[in-house]
Amino acid sequence: MNSLGDSGAPDEARPDHEVIVVGAGFGGIGTGIALQRKGIHDFVIVDKWDRVGGTWHANTYPGVAVDIPSFIYSFSYEQRGDWSRIFPPGSELRDYAESMVDKYGLRDKLRMNTTVVDAAFDDRNSLWRLRTDGGRELTARHIVLAIGGLERPRMPDIEGLDDFGGTLVHTAMWDHDVCLTGKRVAVIGTGATALQLIPAIVEETAHLTVFQRTPIWVFPKNDAEIGWLGRQVLGRKRIRSALRVAGNLGTEVAMSAMVVGPPWLTESARRLAQGPIRRWMRSQIDDPVLREKLTPRYGLGCKRPSMSNDYLKTFNRQDVSLVTESIERITERGVVTADGTEHEIDILVCATGFKLWDKGAIPPFPVRGRNGLDLERFWDEHRYQSYQGVSVPGFPNAFTITGPYGFVLGSYIWMIEATAAHLSRVIAEAKRRGVTEAEIRQQAHDAYFEKCLRRQEKNFLFTPVCAGSNTYYIDDKGDSPFRPSTHGEMYWQNRHFDLDVYRYSAGASRPLQVDALSEEVS
Ligand SMILES: Cc1cc2nc3c(=O)[nH]c(=O)nc-3n(C[C@H](O)[C@H](O)[C@H](O)COP(=O)(O)OP(=O)(O)OC[C@H]3O[C@@H](n4cnc5c(N)ncnc54)[C@H](O)[C@@H]3O)c2cc1C
Repeated sequence: MNSLGDSGAPDEARPDHEVIVVGAGFGGIGTGIALQRKGIHDFVIVDKWDRVGGTWHANTYPGVAVDIPSFIYSFSYEQRGDWSRIFPPGSELRDYAESMVDKYGLRDKLRMNTTVVDAAFDDRNSLWRLRTDGGRELTARHIVLAIGGLERPRMPDIEGLDDFGGTLVHTAMWDHDVCLTGKRVAVIGTGATALQLIPAIVEETAHLTVFQRTPIWVFPKNDAEIGWLGRQVLGRKRIRSALRVAGNLGTEVAMSAMVVGPPWLTESARRLAQGPIRRWMRSQIDDPVLREKLTPRYGLGCKRPSMSNDYLKTFNRQDVSLVTESIERITERGVVTADGTEHEIDILVCATGFKLWDKGAIPPFPVRGRNGLDLERFWDEHRYQSYQGVSVPGFPNAFTITGPYGFVLGSYIWMIEATAAHLSRVIAEAKRRGVTEAEIRQQAHDAYFEKCLRRQEKNFLFTPVCAGSNTYYIDDKGDSPFRPSTHGEMYWQNRHFDLDVYRYSAGASRPLQVDALSEEVS
């Protein structure tokens, strides 16, 4: 028999906290602030690392920087005028995260160096039980998984990788003790990370070999230091806000044309944008053979493009080689390509991204909802799905910041603000009604999923234009679980959905309270 606490509820029925947020990146920080704004103060933020910032704490490779201007890649309620550049380095984003923690009084909510290894819903007591790597159990009425999606490094699956006798590094686990000076360095991968890294290290290396599978679309980058004058300008709230509005409007027009517009508009917009970018890209490369190799054959937008004024020019150097032969294996001395050449190197850098759609990556630890329903298995058997990227039927009181069909391509912080507002509305509503469970209704979830799938039918990602792009925009089930909408629509729908799309109840074991009963009947 359980002991009874002060409230009269058995101890095992009383959670440690009202909310546990897993992850102290921008998602977790934004959630903490959104909860506070709804009057919810009994929460903790748990993270496996010793510092906040998530992505910006983990990624410290040379050249790491945001690729959305700082006055857009920042919270609407925490705009700054003192960024050092238009596209500031990652360390500045991490400092921004730290300063938000202090400003919004989140420091004492943090439980760092704590990895969550398992989460299970306790049906009987309507609460979540989280197990940590230290073997501790933490309980909460609600959980928020703000665990990001781009933080579990993926090593390439190449034979012999473990046999390499030199130094092996991944960009997301950069080892600052490794000295590149005078070394023969190889980089595997030519995505957005490699594009920042390659120009940042080329002056140091004796020879740089870049292994490319798929070329990347590259835009010129209108970056600049923000000097004294710039700070005076950006320091003015009105000017900053006007710049944000202009930037966001530009993104909305692009999104409308590329993602939610009719196919003829999508196709024309893509072609219109592609021409000048391709011409600019080609103008950066001297050698005609290299020019061909670095020009994408798939359409713009099929895969994440990026920006750099130096990346393509780097290949004009004598001490840089581009290898497009596929990699066959890694040996003790280097990389062997399909043509039989062994490229001897001292340091191998894997700019090979993150585990995204891999088994065990989404979610990164077992999450079991009502009656032991396993989230990974559910998604595996029924395709990725969630209501507005936030909640899944069968998983009461559990919310995600970056769930399927939640993310609109563009500034991540927009999505974080929108989804944090969504889940804090639901938690506050459950509190107002005095109930212990809030769960998305199957019908509302299904209607949302069907709408996303309907819109996806027109998605150009599935057309021959994107053949050969190797895009992570398409998951392992052949869907593209990004939100097919504009940012405006995402912003509005998360803040204005009918709260009754969630079912509020007093859980399995307790009698319904009067106000909960009236809601449950609806
Ligand atoms: C190199 C790089 C550049 C990027 N550039 C841009 C950009 O220019 N614009 C843009 O919009 N987005 C960009 N992104 C995406 C970026 O990830 C998001 O903008 C944003 O920072 C994600 O925040 P988050 O809090 O959701 O996730 P994260 O920052 O990934 O934070 C997740 C946190 O959860 C913690 N966590 C995970 N699992 C557990 C566990 N089991 N137990 C405890 N803690 C756990 C992690 O330790 C981490 O701190 C970039 C990403 C990368 C990797």
